[in-house]
Amino acid sequence: MWYTKWRQVTHRIAAWARQKGRVVSTPKTAEVVIVGGGVMGASAAYHLARKGCRSVVLLERDSFFGSETTAKCAGGVRYHFGTEINIRLSLLSLPMLDRFEEELGQPIDLRKCGYLFVLTREADVEEFRKQMILQRGLGVRTELLEAEEVRRRLPRMDFPDTLAGLWGPDDGIADPNGVVQGYMAAARRLGAVCLTDVEVIGVEIAGGRVTGVRTKGGNISCRAVLNAAGPWAAEIGRMAGLEIPVAPTRRQLFISTPVPEIPPDFPFVFDFAQSLYFHREGPGVLSGMSNPGQGPGFYQNIDEDWELTHLETAAARMPSLENAGIANHWAGLYEITPDAHPILGAVERLAGFFCLTGFSGHGFMHGPGAGFLLAEEILDGRAKTVDISSLNLNRFERGRLLREYSVV
Ligand SMILES: Cc1cc2nc3c(=O)[nH]c(=O)nc-3n(C[C@H](O)[C@H](O)[C@H](O)COP(=O)(O)OP(=O)(O)OC[C@H]3O[C@@H](n4cnc5c(N)ncnc54)[C@H](O)[C@@H]3O)c2cc1C
Repeated sequence: MWYTKWRQVTHRIAAWARQKGRVVSTPKTAEVVIVGGGVMGASAAYHLARKGCRSVVLLERDSFFGSETTAKCAGGVRYHFGTEINIRLSLLSLPMLDRFEEELGQPIDLRKCGYLFVLTREADVEEFRKQMILQRGLGVRTELLEAEEVRRRLPRMDFPDTLAGLWGPDDGIADPNGVVQGYMAAARRLGAVCLTDVEVIGVEIAGGRVTGVRTKGGNISCRAVLNAAGPWAAEIGRMAGLEIPVAPTRRQLFISTPVPEIPPDFPFVFDFAQSLYFHREGPGVLSGMSNPGQGPGFYQNIDEDWELTHLETAAARMPSLENAGIANHWAGLYEITPDAHPILGAVERLAGFFCLTGFSGHGFMHGPGAGFLLAEEILDGRAKTVDISSLNLNRFERGRLLREYSVV
């Protein structure tokens, strides 16, 4: 009874907000509060609202949605992973990106340029061969290329040490901002209240379950809190007395000035052993390289020493970069877990608290599917489309860690 009344009240608030086009204060109640307005929060808000949850409130502390990790990402989307659960997340998510513009009316510049993992170590070739068998068994199109074929496909790159390559023709690149804005607009059309400039500062708990959140703009009572705070997920967890092992870790990239030699159909190229990648970005090239020595912390300034190492390594692989300059560069934060897999689903020790975080560098591509699965988990009691129980927070307590080889 109280629940029906509460739904009616929050629904009226959302309807009023829609009418006004904006919300002047935070609602007092909600069914579900989502903390974080990156790709995870946006996808979850849309899928919850689409599934009939009429009282979804998303809170983002920045002045813009999707301006943190999601905005810093390289935009890569791929089926290539080394564990069945990650491949299944791609199998759910990437077709959602294929349908995105048609379903939500928002272009996302999806370009199916393919991913080419270039392998230079015997051990990687063996591992990728096993991964290819796993991927094909799940229905992914993927192909192991011989060294000569890799070099033939990349005439403007220098890979004398290539042993083989793994080609994913259905992989590509999409625009993270388009995805966030598309989901936010659609969620609002369906009645969700999505707010910027609202910071969550506490989680209210009574009788062993979540009862609300405290924000700088007032308190909101709710039945469920969804932690979609990306690299800040551990902080939100601490507010609820939970330890959520997500370590913010700096990753940086640059976009070059125009490189006319690079063809329009240039794929997303990964030099796997060096954790170095390239793709076309407008008339230039975007390149990133993970620093294995980078420790955890909220550093988002450019590490200039590492940038120099990155530039030298990138130019050795793509000599045309010698004649180009840096048009733009930035650093962002991977949200890394101990086994490089996300933390998804209900938290056993605290009823009403849910996690949607820890994607360890591949969250943009899994955001659509993961948000959909969390909507199922919250509203139906369990994610049914894909079994996400292996990704539960409890795996760390129970010592059931997974292992992903294809981490970048
Ligand atoms: C350099 C780089 C390259 C990458 N490349 C790729 C790629 O090619 N493909 C791919 O799939 N992934 C890639 N990623 C990873 C991907 O960007 C992330 O996994 C994904 O964006 C995570 O989304 P999110 O919504 O969890 O986090 P975020 O986008 O960071 O969103 C979390 C939000 O929570 C908000 N927040 C935090 N605390 C609070 C609070 N207390 N109250 C309210 N709001 C709060 C933050 O302001 C933030 O906006 C890359 C990441 C980086 C850094």
